[in-house]
This record gives sequence, C-alpha cells and structure tokens, in this order.
Amino acid sequence: MHQSCCLATKVDTIIKALDFSTIAKNDKVAIKMHLGFKDGYQTIPVFFVRRIVDAVKQAGGWPFITDNPTAVYNAYYRGYTQETCGCPLIPAAGVKDGYVYETKVGYGNVETLDMGGVLHDADVLIDLSHAKGHNSCGYGGAFKNLALGGYSAPSRWNKIHGIEETFPYWDPDKCTPDHARELVSSCPYGSIKYDEKTHKLTVGFSDCYQCMECIEADKSVGCLRISQENFSAFQSLLAHGAKKVLETFDDTKKFFLTFLIEITPFCDCWGLAQPCVVNDIGVLGSRNIVAIETATLDLIKNEGIIEKNIPLLFKHANLDPGIDLHPFQRLFGPMKNPYLVTQFAEKLGMGSRSYELVEVLPACETVKMEIPEEQFERQPSFY
Ligand code: SF4
Repeated sequence: MHQSCCLATKVDTIIKALDFSTIAKNDKVAIKMHLGFKDGYQTIPVFFVRRIVDAVKQAGGWPFITDNPTAVYNAYYRGYTQETCGCPLIPAAGVKDGYVYETKVGYGNVETLDMGGVLHDADVLIDLSHAKGHNSCGYGGAFKNLALGGYSAPSRWNKIHGIEETFPYWDPDKCTPDHARELVSSCPYGSIKYDEKTHKLTVGFSDCYQCMECIEADKSVGCLRISQENFSAFQSLLAHGAKKVLETFDDTKKFFLTFLIEITPFCDCWGLAQPCVVNDIGVLGSRNIVAIETATLDLIKNEGIIEKNIPLLFKHANLDPGIDLHPFQRLFGPMKNPYLVTQFAEKLGMGSRSYELVEVLPACETVKMEIPEEQFERQPSFY
C-alpha cells in the first residue's frame, strides 16, 4: 500500500508513537476537546477526530467525545455528530451540567471546583487540544482544555474567571465617584466598570490589554493597580484545575494531542470566524501535559505572528522585534505570558518543561515516498 505523506499519515504516526496499548479492553475513553460554539468552526477537523476515535476502538476502548453541554448540543452545526466522529458526544458534567464531583482546590478565593462527572468517571483521557489565543491568559491549549473545560459552568465562569478578584487592585476609600467615572472612561477597551450604588469599581482582567491608560488617569490619586498577580492567578488556577482532573486517571492512561493549525487570536468559544495570526505548524503528541504545552508555545513563538492578520481590535499590539515577547503577549499584553501555566504546573510536580521534539515523517523521508496513484477521480466512478 502506498503511504501518503499528508498530515493524516503524520497524525496516524503520532498516534502510533503515543502507544494506545495501555488502553485496556472495554476502557471508557474520554476524548476531551473543544467543539467550538455557534459559527466558531476553526476547531480540530472531524477528519482527524475520526482517526483518533478509530485508533481508540482498535485498541479495545470505548471512546466518547466530551465538552461543555452547550458545545455538545450544537456540535452538529460544526460537523461533529456520532455518525461523523464515530462515537457518542456526551456533556462533561451530564445533560444538565449538574453531574459533578466537588473537588478541593484551595487556591486564592477558590476552595472547591465542580469537576464534570462524566469526565471524572472515564478510565482513559485523551486531552485533544486546539492551539489558539485566549483573552484571559494569552493562550489556550492542553491546560485550558481540562481546567476550564473539565468543570461545570458555575465553576468555570464564576470561580475560575473570578480568581483575579483574589488580589485587591482598587482602594475605594481613595476614590471618589467622579474619579471612578473618569477611570471608566479612560479605558479604551471598556474593561473598567463602576457601580454607583455600591461604590464598587471592577477591572475585567480578561479584557485588559495592559495599555496603562487607566493608571495614567489615576496618577494624581493612586487608587488603582494593574499588577502581574491579577493575571498570574488565572494561570495558576488553570494548573491546579488541570492537575485535579489528571489525578483521576492512571499515569498510563493519559494522552495529549495538540493541533497547531488555524491558530486564531481568540478562543473557540467566541463563536465566530477569525483570521489566523500564526501559520499552521503541525500536530504534537505527548504523554506529558507540561512538555507538550511548553513545546507548543515554543513552536508558536518561533513561527511568529502574521502582522497583516491582526484584527483592529488589538489597538495596543506590541510588534517591536527588539522586545522579547511571545506572539500572544504581543496581542494580549506582556502580563498575559502564556508560559506561566507551564511554570506553575512544573512547580506542582505535573512534569518537566524540558522536552525533546521528535519529528515524524520529516521532509527527508517523505521526499523518498512514491507519489500515490489513482488518488483522485479520473472518471465517473460513483455509478
Ligand atoms: S490597563 Fe488599559 S486595558 Fe487595562 S483596564 Fe487599564 S485602561 Fe483598560
């Protein structure tokens, strides 16, 4: 049989190298992926998902795809169905997002998170991630897929996204209502809100690009701080949350695949088509989450940003080549350093940031392959 040198063959080779032989017969295999939202179709193509599903079946496992219920219920709209994927699609925390395991986390203002029961109950985990930007922390990949996607909506939205409130950043006693209104109007991104009734000012750190215009407006008063800790907290909690999910699986039953294609600035959950800001790079496979995430970030950094594709929304994108920033820091601001999650995870004992990249089917091998024959329709063949 001719071996094709296309990406599909590379993906098959990576799956083989990952070695699914540790999947036991009848193991229930959770393939955790992001199925997108509304018109956000730039997710992992079902073509590749199907190959992974088939490989799990060949290993003797029972695969199912899992994500948050909204994404699962409308996944058909983006082409993911039981028929196309080859396995069921099941919400991570059940049909009403209420089948959960309360999980002690104890980080910042977050005591517990509600882990998706369906994900928790699986025997094997395949963390199937799409590499893309993320407004809260610069980048979303293998960690975000488990730490945000592995928990029910109240945990995800109220607790994980609320972690930045752990560290005080505004002094109400120093700030008059007039000054608070001035701060609100100083932000070009509309990230500062002020509640007149309760005299409470909030900064939405997920939508803060660290342009520091609010700090300039606050110069004479000094009631506001935009500091690294408010951004770092989110990534630290991602590491904690992912660790808890991974602890529910045996070490031999965790696999990581990351697709570095269609690398958009915002997350798949934004539900819209976006220009790709980094060229397609390929697909990575690993048995360790810290290694694969670090390698992914390094490859994106080496590839660099496609400047002409940067949406106008990024008013303060820093494109100065003399400043050492990751492409996603250039977009989302220097404090949204995407490597932080890997540093926190390494400290939590989740693995090493050191890795060795082994390229499968490099050009020196594929160039020697025979060109396949009869791979396209030369004549009417259906009837
Ligand atoms: S630093 Fe810039 S983006 Fe962030 S809250 Fe202040 S004005 Fe808004």
